[in-house]
Amino acid sequence: MDDHARMQLDGSEPVSDVEPNGGRPHGGRVFLKTFGCQMNVYDSERINEALAVNGYSETSDLEAADVVILNTCHIREKAAEKVYSDLGRIRQLKEQRAADGIDTVVAIVGCVAQAEGAEIVRRAPVVDLVVGPQSYHRIPELIARSRIEGRSLVETAFPEEEKFAHLPQRAKARAPTAFLTVQEGCDKFCTFCVVPYTRGAEYSRSVGDVEREARSLVASGVREITLLGQNVNGYHGTGPDGEPCTLAGLVTHLARIDGLERIRYTTSHPRDMTDDLIEAHARESKLMPYLHLPFQSGADRILAAMNRKHTGAEYVALIERIRAAQPDLALSTDVIVGFPGETDAEFEDTLELFREVGFAAAFSFKYSPRPGTPAEKLPDQVPEEVKTERLARLQQLIEVQQRAFAESCVGRTLPVLFEKPGRRAGQMIGRSPYLQSVHAEAPQEALGKIVSVEISSFGPNSLAGVIR
Ligand code: SAM
Ligand code: SF4
Repeated sequence: MDDHARMQLDGSEPVSDVEPNGGRPHGGRVFLKTFGCQMNVYDSERINEALAVNGYSETSDLEAADVVILNTCHIREKAAEKVYSDLGRIRQLKEQRAADGIDTVVAIVGCVAQAEGAEIVRRAPVVDLVVGPQSYHRIPELIARSRIEGRSLVETAFPEEEKFAHLPQRAKARAPTAFLTVQEGCDKFCTFCVVPYTRGAEYSRSVGDVEREARSLVASGVREITLLGQNVNGYHGTGPDGEPCTLAGLVTHLARIDGLERIRYTTSHPRDMTDDLIEAHARESKLMPYLHLPFQSGADRILAAMNRKHTGAEYVALIERIRAAQPDLALSTDVIVGFPGETDAEFEDTLELFREVGFAAAFSFKYSPRPGTPAEKLPDQVPEEVKTERLARLQQLIEVQQRAFAESCVGRTLPVLFEKPGRRAGQMIGRSPYLQSVHAEAPQEALGKIVSVEISSFGPNSLAGVIR
């Protein structure tokens, strides 16, 4: 890239001003690697679909790719840094291909793109395109433009047009389960978290829009849909009557779709766990008995410093209400250890809350200071070795509880949705209602079907059983 091109990168000419038809279909093989959360997995599928209608095909061979896309995660420092280590290898490949006279476009999309923008190209000039999460529908056009103009482009504005309205219809489903983003962004501003900055303000898709996508997924063989949102139970999309609809209302609506057997949702915030949603767990048989509800810390002082707006006792009381409505429920959670100022006693409060509630699964993280977030500037950052030690203790507890939950399933017969063939011949892998992976000997026809499986044993991350 020449200096002239690099100067334009600095925002003097926003890409969004360019005519949308500046891009044109341009075939080629696309290698797309996804980092981070389920929403990125969903976004990657939609990006691939948008590229497919513009003449691109997917490849899993990085060396053969004409377009390399990294869909990135900025939630913790490690996730963001992985992108730069991948870019080192990609630069070598691009140079080799260039020596053979073959052009390669390298695109960084997702939350690192949004957070770092043009800085990415400064740090890694191999990058041709930087595209934030709200502009995925423009990726085919931007690739074409970058090729034509021979310079790097940065698109991180929050465009006025709605991305979902511009993405193509869903392609044929590849599996009996699918993600469907219904809500994006977050207004909660937890002091440790980058999401409100990378994904922007809370936005909910309309019920009609979500239903259309759900129906097209079901028509192509999907049996289970996981509704996604950074704050999914804050969903408030416009309903068929023109009024705002809650997540419970959306679930009830989608449950009427014939052929859709299972509905899940993630991730929820305790503050938005409304009565109607709790009631939906009791009433709606298609809503799976699994709830991911992060509590982050068991210490009230830390919860306040995190701006979570609930106490430990309130979280416990909420779980009691949910379990009273639906006793058959597997709970999972997210926990952060080593938030700035967290004392040994406050970490013990976290372990105590974890023991008191009891979880079937959990995700645990060392606090990672993120640029631009309020917690990054707090005094008393916890030393790395203390975080490491706390994380290890928490993970021991998680393992014990996860194991106890898996053990409690042995001897039970559970409905399992078979999703894919296993590694061994004749074996299939599916999911229990509680989201556990289940292995069983099963005929090919079981793929995409819900079959009763008697659970006979369990391993660290899965159950095994026999079809009944
Ligand atoms: N919206 C969800 C909520 O409020 O619970 C969580 C979304 S976030 C993508 C997933 C998890 O990453 C959070 O629940 C939190 O535990 C963890 N996380 C977010 N920022 C973090 C940070 N700076 N350091 C460590 N973990 C973090
Ligand atoms: Fe981040 Fe979740 Fe807090 Fe929103 S509610 S700021 S996504 S942790």
